[in-house]
Amino acid sequence: MGPGCHAKGAQTVLDTFKKELGISEGETTPCQKYTLLASNCLGACDQAPLVKINDQLITKVNPINVSAILKGEFFNDTSLDTPEILQISTNHPVCACGGDKHFSTFKKLLKENNPEKIIETIRDSRLQGRGGAGFFTGDKMQMVFNTHRENQLDSVVVVNSAIFELDPLNVIEGILISALAVRAKLGFICYRNEHLPALLKMNDAINWARSKNFIGKNILGSNFSFDLKVRHGAGGFIVGESSALVQTLMGKVGEPQAKYIKLAQSGYKKRPTFISNIETIANIPQIMEKGVDWFRKIGHHSKGTKLLSLSGDVKNPGFVEAPLGTTINEIIQNVGGGITSPKKRTIKFVQVGGPTGGYLPSNMLELKIDYDSLKEVGAIMGSGLISVKNDRKCLVDSLLYQITYLAGESCGKCTPCREGLYMAKRILHNISRGKGSKNDLALLSDIAQTLRETSFCQFGKTASNPILSALRYFEQEFFEHVDGKICRSGVCKELTQFHINDQCTGCTLCAKVCPTGCITSRKKELHIIDQQKCIKCGACFEVCNFKSVEVR
Ligand code: SF4
Ligand code: SF4
Ligand code: SF4
Repeated sequence: MGPGCHAKGAQTVLDTFKKELGISEGETTPCQKYTLLASNCLGACDQAPLVKINDQLITKVNPINVSAILKGEFFNDTSLDTPEILQISTNHPVCACGGDKHFSTFKKLLKENNPEKIIETIRDSRLQGRGGAGFFTGDKMQMVFNTHRENQLDSVVVVNSAIFELDPLNVIEGILISALAVRAKLGFICYRNEHLPALLKMNDAINWARSKNFIGKNILGSNFSFDLKVRHGAGGFIVGESSALVQTLMGKVGEPQAKYIKLAQSGYKKRPTFISNIETIANIPQIMEKGVDWFRKIGHHSKGTKLLSLSGDVKNPGFVEAPLGTTINEIIQNVGGGITSPKKRTIKFVQVGGPTGGYLPSNMLELKIDYDSLKEVGAIMGSGLISVKNDRKCLVDSLLYQITYLAGESCGKCTPCREGLYMAKRILHNISRGKGSKNDLALLSDIAQTLRETSFCQFGKTASNPILSALRYFEQEFFEHVDGKICRSGVCKELTQFHINDQCTGCTLCAKVCPTGCITSRKKELHIIDQQKCIKCGACFEVCNFKSVEVR
């Protein structure tokens, strides 16, 4: 169950369907009209809970709608003569196919027992880690395998999980193929504990695979044995860093370790350790089954697809899988349905790559989403987040929010990151309150460069991205804050005064929404704001259809 559907009560909707139809999940009504299936995330989180009937998606379903849906009152075509498949966006044990369609590739590879062939195929496919840095997965496998062979040490597979629920058996098959390739006998799925339904689904899937002897001793009668364990993550952004993750697996504090110690050579309990993001692992069975050429045809420059999370000021935020090389604008328009309130607002910037990603201005929306293109412009693939912001958002305020978050997530081990992020936060706080100077901008830039060059781990290095990209593309806005003492977006309250210009038509809309009643209002006459009473909430700025409310 996706978090959106879960939070919005999908389980109650499912229970209501069961009650109304008199059947359980996976069953068909005696009249053969309805089969009730629980589905994974359907990718429209803002519209949750979702019900899918054949190809039709019904959004924001409430238990009280269920009866009407079954009577056909929610359909354009109310004559439901053909059998219908109902899918509620919630949890389903293991897989709708019952597991029959999985593991055929693994079975074939197990028989061949040729790790070099698996590694060569993954290397040729040019699959890159989907966790952010984009390291080539085949190269990583090769390093682990070499260490295993040279030192006769059993390897370990560690998978950092966030999206297990989408296709758990495919993920387990990917882990098994990786284990076969790097000669691992033990694997871990590291999971954050917040999302209970996905965790339960993962345990179901592992138990199922164990019951079929895909996990365990002498798998399917071969001499390959592999055990897979689930570890609940210690939480925190930094535990996503591979060396910190391995530390937590060994019961230690989740702090990054020096990079000269390669995890591929000496990771979990000093064994060669193959660490991968779960999205990367999910690609492996398909590559091994369909071949390198199939995979390399998908995507432009970087190969394959990427899960992207679209959020912010778009009509349809949600989760989407797109070929690498798709442009940012294609995602915003074709998936997101464009910006909200397009008549009033325009896109000001997109924040790409998650908390340590970069800010890109609206004239860069045709940029292709691939590892190298994003890096060149000061962003990263990171978590695949694309957050769209309209012209009512202030860059200084957005950056302050971001740096405050990052400062809280720093593990504190090294000075540049621990002190640098704290200082950057303080400077941005001052700028947003009208206490900044030009020197602060130079200092901010210095701090970011120091973070990039001297931080101990990638977290600190990439934490420079939001600062440097904001200063690079929105320098003018920063100067306006420190020099002109004005925030044109009307967000930083100390730097904002709303005024009504003579374009005002006297429509009275602003006066109606003003929470303090401080707008002098007479129909068809110029309206005036009483600055003494104005609390700078921006509601008048937001509603005016004539651009008559402006920031001075
Ligand atoms: S860069 Fe930040 S997160 Fe990484 S070790 Fe230093 S303080 Fe910790
Ligand atoms: S909403 Fe705009 S046009 Fe209407 S009264 Fe207010 S300022 Fe004037
Ligand atoms: S900013 Fe808010 S309080 Fe001030 S005039 Fe506009 S609506 Fe009223």
